Amino acid sequence: MAEQRNDTVFGMILRGEIPADIVYEDELAVAFRDIAPQAPVHVLVIPRRRVRSLAHAAADDQALVGHLLSVCAAVAEQEGVAESGYRVVTNIGENGGQSVDHLHFHVLGGRRLSWPPG
Ligand code: 5GP
Repeated sequence: MAEQRNDTVFGMILRGEIPADIVYEDELAVAFRDIAPQAPVHVLVIPRRRVRSLAHAAADDQALVGHLLSVCAAVAEQEGVAESGYRVVTNIGENGGQSVDHLHFHVLGGRRLSWPPG
């Protein structure tokens, strides 16, 4: 079956249809600044290939998910928050607060983050 067109805003960013402030990219992943940052550093790390959420990741996506987490750590280093600390979050589904159906990890840092999250 032909793969469905990625009609999410992240699909548009990946195709270059809308601009994004890209801070890192490789053959599997792209990282760009969140349009509505919740912290001084707020970067989204996404796979080029669409996976709808972590809950939709299949067994053969394990390497991809591991790679995305490595990219999160590299981005935190690059953004200068590795030493002060940061948070990596992925929201899943309605109760998780997911608003874009394309797997993404938020990398948040540059301020003291509260816990528990709201
Ligand atoms: P979620 O709520 O699904 O966990 O996270 C989606 C994130 O995507 C939100 O933090 C939101 O601000 C961000 N976002 C939504 N539309 C755009 C966009 O067009 N460009 C960028 N850079 N970020 C976006």
